[in-house]
Amino acid sequence: MASTNVQNGADASKDSTKQVSRHQEVGHKSLLQSDALYQYILETSVYPREPESMRELREITAKHPWNLMTTSADEGQFLNLLLKLINAKNTMEIGVYTGYSLLSTALALPDDGKIIAMDINRENYELGLPVIQKAGVAHKIDFREGPALPVLDQMLENKEMHGSFDFIFVDADKDNYLNYHKRLIDLVKIGGVIGYDNTLWNGSVVAPPDAPLRKYVRYYRDFVIELNKALAADPRIEISQIPVGDGITLCRRVS
Ligand code: SAM
Ligand code: CA
Repeated sequence: MASTNVQNGADASKDSTKQVSRHQEVGHKSLLQSDALYQYILETSVYPREPESMRELREITAKHPWNLMTTSADEGQFLNLLLKLINAKNTMEIGVYTGYSLLSTALALPDDGKIIAMDINRENYELGLPVIQKAGVAHKIDFREGPALPVLDQMLENKEMHGSFDFIFVDADKDNYLNYHKRLIDLVKIGGVIGYDNTLWNGSVVAPPDAPLRKYVRYYRDFVIELNKALAADPRIEISQIPVGDGITLCRRVS
């Protein structure tokens, strides 16, 4: 770890130029300075408190070839707490994969809570489903197989669904996030929250144009950058972009 990354007054003052370029403003320090610090969070605050069912699902997912897609354990813990803090009951998730974020949501909701969960791939959802069933929360989930946009359009035709969701988690095809936003803003209630996941997109949002990026990272990068600009400029929401996982932007509908 570079000495500029050590968060201690004496060290920072020795290397003030680098501190300024890293954080732009003196005194605003990046929270995560090393992998060791991330590991510390996981081992101290996340794994010891992770419900048994979430651990089991995390371990099943780790063996799947696309495990890179899963929500991380610290983000799962964050979502679970957030849902309790806002007393969420009626929720939606776009992008389920094996269901780690879905399970963290289902565990947070009251027994009569609901999640409309959408994914084009049912097979991966079914990998996690036995764990979700064993945890006693499967009755809260209404899984819809297929692309999310037509389902949202169908919901919008029903005026009763307008403004009815307390929380919506979007974690699917990044090139559609703005299309989702156009629809979700009418489906979430005023005071409700939409969480757009992966808004730091592997850090690529600040990569120079010629940076060597994996193909899929490069492809979706511009969509994520456009989304971030659009959310920041949208007067219908208040936002906070949080560097947990790959970045999640929370949007609270205000009008
Ligand atoms: N939230 C999940 C978790 O905690 O493991 C991770 C979701 S993964 C990053 C993205 C998912 O979006 C994939 O399972 C993929 O099949 C799904 N997906 C991609 N395009 C979609 C679409 N148009 N509609 C619904 N789901 C889609
Ligand atoms: Ca994600």
